[in-house]
Amino acid sequence: MKKKVDILIIGAGASGLMFASLLSAKNVMVVDNNSNVGNKVLISGGGKCNVTNGNVNSKNYLGNQRFIKNILKRFNQTMLLLWLEKRGLVPIVRKNHQYFCKDSAKELLDVFKKEIPSKSIELNTKVKEVKKNGDIFEVLTSKGRIEANKVVVASGGLSFPILGATNIGYEIAKSFGHEVRTLSAGLVGLTLQPEQFFFKSLSGIAIEVKITVDRKELQGALLFAHKGISGPVILDTSLYWQKGKIIIDFLPTLSLLSLKSSKKYLSRTLGLPSRVAKTFLNELQIEDKASNTLNSEEWKKLEKLKTYDFAPAGTFGYSKAEVTKGGVSTDEIDASSMMSRKIENLYFLGEVLDVTGELGGYNFQWAFSTAFVCAEGIE
Ligand SMILES: Cc1cc2nc3c(=O)[nH]c(=O)nc-3n(C[C@H](O)[C@H](O)[C@H](O)COP(=O)(O)OP(=O)(O)OC[C@H]3O[C@@H](n4cnc5c(N)ncnc54)[C@H](O)[C@@H]3O)c2cc1C
Repeated sequence: MKKKVDILIIGAGASGLMFASLLSAKNVMVVDNNSNVGNKVLISGGGKCNVTNGNVNSKNYLGNQRFIKNILKRFNQTMLLLWLEKRGLVPIVRKNHQYFCKDSAKELLDVFKKEIPSKSIELNTKVKEVKKNGDIFEVLTSKGRIEANKVVVASGGLSFPILGATNIGYEIAKSFGHEVRTLSAGLVGLTLQPEQFFFKSLSGIAIEVKITVDRKELQGALLFAHKGISGPVILDTSLYWQKGKIIIDFLPTLSLLSLKSSKKYLSRTLGLPSRVAKTFLNELQIEDKASNTLNSEEWKKLEKLKTYDFAPAGTFGYSKAEVTKGGVSTDEIDASSMMSRKIENLYFLGEVLDVTGELGGYNFQWAFSTAFVCAEGIE
């Protein structure tokens, strides 16, 4: 195939689909290496897609705060919800201000499919390289060359290669002289050191904990998993964890002082599931007995449950990560249009940029906000 279009969008994921919806009247083509659009959207949020969050703030993101603020104020969560509502989709708040599709993430894809003419979407088309000859971009794909006046890179990050993720966005950026900040898996489970392998015997159990990581305090559910630790609070921890120690308070709502006079057995007073309590008492070599009979050495050992520190060995990797940390430096992107400051008519949207949101709908909001800003800024 040799085609010529005005605007070529690389990636039919969250940001690419939103952008194409906003510009459907123009001569736009979206290419994607998958056989369907929005594969990641479909499985996101447990199949219901956590579209956005009622409280979106630049502080919910890693990245250049000024840049992020500028983008979010142009298309915030209220504007997104209104835009969706006008197209018949009214997401519902389920927990922690998180907005989900009512029954299925398909509802969101249906909105995009209605907005984008099907002839504008080329599936099973993998982009391999982008060059610029004079004013025209030449895009080399698995199905031949496409010429475009403008190229919008909406190809996402490296997470979930099984859903089509590739490094093409970063390669395009580098080939045009952009800085790509160090990439790593984010919103992902953490693996353990041998001293913590006993956690694995608790696989499948979730408990509420407080975690301190890089001077940030996070509270939420930790899930003991076969490969290590996961669950919402660990996914968020992975955003702030580089290497080094994290501190876990396994008893975030309990003051140990309150147990000093209790005649109840420790395993029943800690407020932990019995198996968890017994496993930790065993590991800390504390006898399970009436709390008021503990000696000072045992109290000291018990305090470890409130300040359990260790250095995770690593992460579960991109095959399990929800996002990629790092990416195309926002220093070289114009926040009024998402256009490269280095190459005219080259744009970057969504996760490929060096901006990463916490768990809770922030990453889709980022994808949609960048798409909106670009659609307004592109001429
Ligand atoms: C399991 C899972 C659950 C998630 N749940 C949520 C959630 O509920 N809420 C939330 O806010 N965020 C969630 N996220 C994160 C969110 O999905 C991403 O941040 C968001 O999709 C990024 O949008 P994007 O448009 O930048 O990239 P993507 O949506 O990843 O789209 C990129 C597209 O580009 C295509 N592509 C890649 N390389 C090429 C190539 N070489 N040629 C052609 N096409 C290519 C890909 O196939 C893909 O379709 C989740 C992520 C995962 C993995």
